[in-house]
Amino acid sequence: MDFYFRRTYRGALKAILLDWAGTTMDYGCYAPAVVFRQVYERMRVPISMSEARAPMGAHKKVHIHKISQIESVHQRWEETYNRPPQESDIDAMFEAFVPLQLSCLAEYADLIPGTLEAVAEFRKRGLKIGSTTGYTGEMMALLQKEAKKRGYEPDATVCATDVPEGRPAPWMCVQNAMQLGVYPFAACVKVDDTIPGIEEGLNAGMWTIGLAKTGNEIGLNEEEINRLDPEVLQTQLETVYQRMHQSGAHYVVDGIWDVSDVLDDIQSRLTRGECP
Ligand SMILES: [Mg+2]
Repeated sequence: MDFYFRRTYRGALKAILLDWAGTTMDYGCYAPAVVFRQVYERMRVPISMSEARAPMGAHKKVHIHKISQIESVHQRWEETYNRPPQESDIDAMFEAFVPLQLSCLAEYADLIPGTLEAVAEFRKRGLKIGSTTGYTGEMMALLQKEAKKRGYEPDATVCATDVPEGRPAPWMCVQNAMQLGVYPFAACVKVDDTIPGIEEGLNAGMWTIGLAKTGNEIGLNEEEINRLDPEVLQTQLETVYQRMHQSGAHYVVDGIWDVSDVLDDIQSRLTRGECP
């Protein structure tokens, strides 16, 4: 045979999968960062906010482990304990983390401005709304209730504890697609404020949109952002845009309010026969 055909999906977008903290709620993604610092403080190995935020997006237990592997933290740990952090330390810290996180989650449950309008627009486009998160099922149950009170209720929610492996593995996206009954994955878009969350979508073969301003990368809430020198903010945003583009994100925008415009572009690329 001297030629072959290649099949491409040229149909409509079917679903959008939204991350939670830093994407639809908790502007600046504060809730987990604050508690990771408390947990390490209790172990007498205080960590900075940027150390606490570095592995964001991962399963929370994996996150605790990854913090312990940051060179500066590892060094402070050895100075305190005369040995490296062990599996049992991670287990103990995760055990301490869960109730601390549960006790303060509701304080960080406000929706990011523009979320309700964006979700209404996605629905108007006929998209199903899925969601993924590094939070555990117990934490998500609480947050889903808080989100519902505020008018946000996605059609599917999959937590890191529902799958064999969290981000950057694609399983939460795959599980969403199954629950929503949508395929191919090229008809789905993943939106996230962290690099592992973007990689999760890429690994699932979905279109990805990074959110630069409202999440973990800048790490400030709306009020703090508004107080920031506009030039400083601009420089920080440029760095985040570059990091997210380099991670492979198809698009990077400031916040969820900008996502709808991007969907038009994705749809026209799909119609032309482009794959994510
Ligand atoms: Mg997030």
